[in-house]
Amino acid sequence: MTIVSAETIDALLPQTQCRQCGYGGCRPYAEALAMHRAAINQCPPGGEDTIRDLAALLGVPYEPPDPVFGAIKPPAVALIDEQRCIGCTLCIQACPVDAIVGATKMMHTVIAAECTGCELCIPPCPVDCISMPVTVGNTTRVQKKNAAALAKRRFESRNRRLQREKDERAARLAAAKDTAAEIKKRATVEKAIARARERLRQRGR
Ligand code: SF4
Ligand code: SF4
Ligand code: SF4
Repeated sequence: MTIVSAETIDALLPQTQCRQCGYGGCRPYAEALAMHRAAINQCPPGGEDTIRDLAALLGVPYEPPDPVFGAIKPPAVALIDEQRCIGCTLCIQACPVDAIVGATKMMHTVIAAECTGCELCIPPCPVDCISMPVTVGNTTRVQKKNAAALAKRRFESRNRRLQREKDERAARLAAAKDTAAEIKKRATVEKAIARARERLRQRGR
Protein backbone atom coordinates (compact mmCIF):
# COMPACT_ATOMS: atom_id res chain seq x y z
CA MET A 1 0.00 0.00 0.00
CA THR A 2 1.33 3.43 -0.99
CA ILE A 3 1.54 6.25 1.58
CA VAL A 4 -0.55 9.18 0.33
CA SER A 5 -1.67 12.40 2.03
CA ALA A 6 -5.31 12.93 3.02
CA GLU A 7 -5.33 16.02 0.80
CA THR A 8 -4.42 14.01 -2.29
CA ILE A 9 -7.04 11.38 -1.47
CA ASP A 10 -9.66 14.08 -0.78
CA ALA A 11 -9.07 15.46 -4.28
CA LEU A 12 -10.43 12.20 -5.73
CA LEU A 13 -13.67 12.23 -3.72
CA PRO A 14 -16.99 13.65 -5.03
CA GLN A 15 -17.27 16.32 -2.30
CA THR A 16 -21.01 15.91 -1.78
CA GLN A 17 -20.30 15.71 1.99
CA CYS A 18 -23.22 13.26 2.23
CA ARG A 19 -21.64 11.19 5.06
CA GLN A 20 -22.76 7.86 3.55
CA CYS A 21 -19.19 6.58 3.96
CA GLY A 22 -19.73 6.67 7.73
CA TYR A 23 -17.50 9.72 8.25
CA GLY A 24 -18.41 13.37 8.80
CA GLY A 25 -17.63 14.31 5.19
CA CYS A 26 -15.20 13.67 2.36
CA ARG A 27 -12.14 15.00 4.18
CA PRO A 28 -12.58 12.79 7.30
CA TYR A 29 -13.03 9.76 5.02
CA ALA A 30 -9.85 10.77 3.16
CA GLU A 31 -8.01 11.01 6.48
CA ALA A 32 -9.24 7.53 7.47
CA LEU A 33 -8.06 6.16 4.13
CA ALA A 34 -4.67 7.83 4.53
CA MET A 35 -4.33 6.08 7.89
CA HIS A 36 -5.51 2.74 6.39
CA ARG A 37 -8.54 2.74 8.66
CA ALA A 38 -11.21 2.62 5.96
CA ALA A 39 -11.89 0.62 2.81
CA ILE A 40 -11.86 2.20 -0.66
CA ASN A 41 -15.43 1.11 -1.47
CA GLN A 42 -17.43 3.17 1.06
CA CYS A 43 -18.46 6.12 -1.14
CA PRO A 44 -21.69 5.52 -3.09
CA PRO A 45 -21.69 8.94 -4.83
CA GLY A 46 -18.21 8.23 -6.18
CA GLY A 47 -19.26 4.84 -7.51
CA GLU A 48 -16.94 2.54 -9.42
CA ASP A 49 -14.83 5.39 -10.86
CA THR A 50 -13.80 6.63 -7.42
CA ILE A 51 -13.01 3.10 -6.22
CA ARG A 52 -10.75 2.57 -9.23
CA ASP A 53 -9.07 5.98 -8.70
CA LEU A 54 -8.49 5.22 -5.01
CA ALA A 55 -7.17 1.72 -5.76
CA ALA A 56 -4.67 3.14 -8.25
CA LEU A 57 -3.61 5.97 -5.93
CA LEU A 58 -3.23 3.81 -2.85
CA GLY A 59 -1.78 0.80 -4.65
CA VAL A 60 -4.45 -1.61 -3.41
CA PRO A 61 -6.71 -4.02 -5.31
CA TYR A 62 -10.12 -2.90 -6.63
CA GLU A 63 -13.06 -3.88 -4.45
CA PRO A 64 -16.71 -3.73 -5.60
CA PRO A 65 -18.94 -1.06 -3.97
CA ASP A 66 -20.04 -2.13 -0.50
CA PRO A 67 -23.87 -1.97 -0.40
CA VAL A 68 -23.73 -1.46 3.39
CA PHE A 69 -22.90 2.19 2.66
CA GLY A 70 -25.82 2.72 0.28
CA ALA A 71 -26.76 2.12 -3.31
CA ILE A 72 -25.12 3.88 -6.24
CA LYS A 73 -27.85 6.10 -7.66
CA PRO A 74 -28.20 8.09 -10.89
CA PRO A 75 -27.52 11.87 -10.62
CA ALA A 76 -30.34 13.79 -8.91
CA VAL A 77 -30.96 17.26 -7.48
CA ALA A 78 -33.32 18.31 -4.74
CA LEU A 79 -36.65 19.90 -5.63
CA ILE A 80 -38.82 21.75 -3.10
CA ASP A 81 -42.59 21.73 -3.50
CA GLU A 82 -42.92 25.45 -2.88
CA GLN A 83 -46.69 25.25 -2.30
CA ARG A 84 -46.12 23.01 0.73
CA CYS A 85 -42.95 24.64 2.11
CA ILE A 86 -43.61 26.39 5.44
CA GLY A 87 -40.32 28.32 5.46
CA CYS A 88 -38.84 26.71 8.57
CA THR A 89 -35.24 27.05 7.20
CA LEU A 90 -34.21 23.59 8.48
CA CYS A 91 -33.16 22.51 4.99
CA ILE A 92 -30.88 25.57 4.63
CA GLN A 93 -29.15 24.66 7.87
CA ALA A 94 -28.62 21.08 6.64
CA CYS A 95 -27.29 21.88 3.17
CA PRO A 96 -23.48 21.60 3.16
CA VAL A 97 -23.03 23.70 0.02
CA ASP A 98 -25.56 26.53 0.57
CA ALA A 99 -27.64 25.40 -2.41
CA ILE A 100 -30.98 26.45 -0.89
CA VAL A 101 -32.28 30.01 -0.73
CA GLY A 102 -35.17 31.34 1.32
CA ALA A 103 -35.98 33.21 4.51
CA THR A 104 -37.91 32.42 7.68
CA LYS A 105 -41.61 31.81 6.92
CA MET A 106 -40.96 32.27 3.19
CA MET A 107 -40.91 29.52 0.60
CA HIS A 108 -37.53 27.97 -0.14
CA THR A 109 -35.94 27.06 -3.47
CA VAL A 110 -33.04 24.85 -4.50
CA ILE A 111 -30.40 26.31 -6.82
CA ALA A 112 -30.20 23.23 -9.04
CA ALA A 113 -26.75 24.07 -10.44
CA GLU A 114 -25.26 24.12 -6.92
CA CYS A 115 -27.05 21.02 -5.55
CA THR A 116 -24.85 17.93 -5.22
CA GLY A 117 -27.76 15.55 -4.57
CA CYS A 118 -26.46 14.67 -1.09
CA GLU A 119 -30.03 14.31 0.28
CA LEU A 120 -29.08 15.85 3.65
CA CYS A 121 -31.95 18.35 3.36
CA ILE A 122 -34.63 15.65 3.18
CA PRO A 123 -34.73 14.22 6.75
CA PRO A 124 -35.06 17.60 8.56
CA CYS A 125 -38.01 18.82 6.44
CA PRO A 126 -41.09 18.65 8.72
CA VAL A 127 -43.59 18.57 5.85
CA ASP A 128 -41.76 16.17 3.51
CA CYS A 129 -41.86 18.60 0.63
CA ILE A 130 -38.40 17.85 -0.77
CA SER A 131 -37.97 15.22 -3.47
CA MET A 132 -34.96 14.12 -5.53
CA PRO A 133 -35.88 13.90 -9.22
CA VAL A 134 -33.23 12.19 -11.34
CA THR A 135 -31.42 14.50 -13.78
CA VAL A 136 -29.19 14.02 -16.77
CA GLY A 137 -26.53 15.32 -14.37
CA ASN A 138 -22.77 14.96 -14.54
CA THR A 139 -21.93 11.71 -16.21
CA THR A 140 -18.47 12.11 -17.77
CA ARG A 141 -15.34 12.02 -15.64
CA VAL A 142 -14.54 15.65 -16.51
CA GLN A 143 -18.06 16.78 -15.54
CA LYS A 144 -17.79 14.88 -12.26
CA LYS A 145 -14.39 16.43 -11.48
CA ASN A 146 -15.72 19.92 -12.22
CA ALA A 147 -18.80 19.30 -10.07
CA ALA A 148 -16.60 18.04 -7.20
CA ALA A 149 -14.37 21.12 -7.45
CA LEU A 150 -17.41 23.43 -7.34
CA ALA A 151 -18.91 21.54 -4.38
CA LYS A 152 -15.61 21.76 -2.48
CA ARG A 153 -15.39 25.52 -3.06
CA ARG A 154 -18.98 26.01 -1.88
CA PHE A 155 -18.51 23.73 1.14
CA GLU A 156 -15.39 25.64 2.21
CA SER A 157 -17.08 28.98 1.61
CA ARG A 158 -20.02 27.85 3.79
CA ASN A 159 -17.64 26.75 6.55
CA ARG A 160 -15.96 30.17 6.47
CA ARG A 161 -19.37 31.87 6.69
CA LEU A 162 -20.43 29.69 9.65
CA GLN A 163 -17.12 30.39 11.43
CA ARG A 164 -17.50 34.15 10.78
CA GLU A 165 -21.05 34.11 12.19
CA LYS A 166 -19.87 32.14 15.23
CA ASP A 167 -17.04 34.64 15.84
CA GLU A 168 -19.47 37.56 15.50
CA ARG A 169 -21.90 35.96 18.00
CA ALA A 170 -19.03 35.39 20.45
CA ALA A 171 -17.88 39.01 20.04
CA ARG A 172 -21.43 40.31 20.63
CA LEU A 173 -21.77 38.11 23.74
CA ALA A 174 -18.41 39.30 25.08
CA ALA A 175 -19.40 42.94 24.46
CA ALA A 176 -22.75 42.40 26.24
CA LYS A 177 -20.94 40.81 29.21
CA ASP A 178 -18.49 43.77 29.35
CA THR A 179 -21.41 46.22 29.33
CA ALA A 180 -23.25 44.30 32.08
CA ALA A 181 -20.05 44.18 34.19
CA GLU A 182 -19.52 47.93 33.67
CA ILE A 183 -23.12 48.71 34.73
CA LYS A 184 -22.75 46.51 37.84
CA LYS A 185 -19.42 48.16 38.74
CA ARG A 186 -20.90 51.65 38.34
CA ALA A 187 -23.90 50.72 40.54
CA THR A 188 -21.53 49.39 43.25
CA VAL A 189 -19.46 52.60 43.18
CA GLU A 190 -22.61 54.75 43.30
CA LYS A 191 -23.90 52.81 46.30
CA ALA A 192 -20.51 53.20 48.08
CA ILE A 193 -20.58 56.97 47.42
CA ALA A 194 -24.15 57.19 48.70
CA ARG A 195 -23.19 55.31 51.89
CA ALA A 196 -20.14 57.59 52.45
CA ARG A 197 -22.30 60.70 51.97
CA GLU A 198 -24.86 59.36 54.41
CA ARG A 199 -22.13 58.73 57.02
CA LEU A 200 -20.79 62.29 56.56
CA ARG A 201 -24.29 63.70 56.84
CA GLN A 202 -24.91 61.79 60.09
CA ARG A 203 -21.58 62.98 61.56
CA GLY A 204 -22.43 66.57 60.66
CA ARG A 205 -25.67 66.56 62.66
S1 SF4 B 1 -19.19 11.90 -1.13
FE1 SF4 B 1 -18.29 9.94 -0.55
S2 SF4 B 1 -16.52 10.49 0.69
FE2 SF4 B 1 -17.80 12.30 0.53
S3 SF4 B 1 -19.07 12.23 2.39
FE3 SF4 B 1 -20.23 11.22 0.71
S4 SF4 B 1 -19.73 9.07 0.91
FE4 SF4 B 1 -18.21 10.17 2.12
S1 SF4 C 1 -30.14 21.09 -1.69
FE1 SF4 C 1 -30.32 19.21 -0.46
S2 SF4 C 1 -29.56 17.62 -1.81
FE2 SF4 C 1 -28.91 19.53 -2.69
S3 SF4 C 1 -26.85 19.88 -1.87
FE3 SF4 C 1 -28.25 20.92 -0.49
S4 SF4 C 1 -28.72 19.43 1.11
FE4 SF4 C 1 -27.80 18.31 -0.60
S1 SF4 D 1 -37.25 22.15 5.53
FE1 SF4 D 1 -39.03 21.87 4.17
S2 SF4 D 1 -40.59 23.22 5.00
FE2 SF4 D 1 -38.66 23.84 5.95
S3 SF4 D 1 -37.94 25.52 4.61
FE3 SF4 D 1 -37.02 23.61 3.86
S4 SF4 D 1 -38.41 22.87 2.25
FE4 SF4 D 1 -39.52 24.40 3.45
